[in-house]
Amino acid sequence: MPYEYDDQNVFAKILRGDIPNQTVIETEHTLAFHDINAQAPVHVLVIPKGAYVNYDHFGAEATAAEITDFTRTLAKLTADLGVAPDAGGGYRLIANSGEAAIQEVPHMHVHILGGRPLGAILATAASS
Ligand code: AMP
Repeated sequence: MPYEYDDQNVFAKILRGDIPNQTVIETEHTLAFHDINAQAPVHVLVIPKGAYVNYDHFGAEATAAEITDFTRTLAKLTADLGVAPDAGGGYRLIANSGEAAIQEVPHMHVHILGGRPLGAILATAASS
């Protein structure tokens, strides 16, 4: 089923400049900014500028230039933010997609979290 992109989502508004953000880096195809509700000392959101709903939409339909730019920017950020495994202790990437993952904002994004021990990969409150 093709995805329908809702251009009223909050990240679309950030990309249009309708609402402010704390930009960390901006490239031709990618924007990274601090999460407004940080869950760790480092909590940055990386988004493509293109209209993609989630990670699988992006992976299937983005251009090679968009995918390369996104991936290279994210990799550079881990060093710039001081969380790269060799020097900063490591980080976790999260790409919530769809209902089961409780994706709040329907614009593709990856969370970079780090700056403290992050614990188990999933909250243990819910049983599997
Ligand atoms: P997700 O559940 O993966 O869709 O997460 C969306 C994230 O966007 C949450 O961590 C929010 O805190 C964050 N967020 C929502 N609005 C803003 C905003 N205006 N600026 C920065 N981060 C935001």
